[in-house]
Parts: sequence; C-alpha cells; structure tokens
Amino acid sequence: MEDGKRSAFDVAREALLNRYGTLDPDRMRTLGADDVEVGAAVNIAQRDGQGMPRERRVILACPPTNMNELLEGTGNPRYVPTVEHSLTRCGDCGTDMWIGPRQQAVAVRAPEATLVLCMVCAIRETERRGRCR
Ligand SMILES: [Zn+2]
Repeated sequence: MEDGKRSAFDVAREALLNRYGTLDPDRMRTLGADDVEVGAAVNIAQRDGQGMPRERRVILACPPTNMNELLEGTGNPRYVPTVEHSLTRCGDCGTDMWIGPRQQAVAVRAPEATLVLCMVCAIRETERRGRCR
C-alpha cells in the first residue's frame, strides 16, 4: 500500500469528520453534505476495510421501530420512515430498526468498517469513544 494514497484518504477522512463529525451518509446529508462528499465517505469506509478496530468504525445510527415511544414527551416530531427504509437489527442490542438506503449501501459495501446500531446504542458507543480520548 503506497503511503501517498493512504494519507490522501486520511486527509479526506479528517476533513469530513471535522466538517460533519460523522461519516454516516444520512447524518452527513442532513448536515448539508453533497453527493461528492457522501461518495467520498462511502469510499473511505470501504477502503478502511477489514480488521478495523471497533472504535474507528463508522457508526450508522438507525431509528429503532419503537422510536416514537422513545421520543414521547421530548417535543420532537414523530419519526416516520420513508418507503426506502428497510427493517434490520441493531448490531449490539438486536432491536428492530429502520435503515436508510444510503446507510444500507455503505453497510453492504463496507461491513468491516461500519457499525449498524440503533440510536440508543449509537449514543452509547459515541459516549464510550468520547471517554477514551
Ligand atoms: Zn441497539
């Protein structure tokens, strides 16, 4: 693996993380990322590839199917999955949840570089990483 290319990927990853704080395509999109940036994140996740330590994997945070129970009383609008969302299971707690098409695409292309988690576990994972830094 040539060092030049490797560091270019690292630079791109850093830049995206600095701007959006995540490589999750759905969350990047919400924060205003364009197709090029989302595509770069997918490529980075794919290239990061196998044997990646858990704490460096991209977290794909998915709303659990009981999302609206969790949101009750918080004043947040009710969550409604689009027709493009499909059912999957949280990698940590096994709860049923909705995965978006872009998240699904990343998870399929880079299974070794992603963690598909429900939002509750994604928050837990983020906090765990925050403490380690
Ligand atoms: Zn979970």
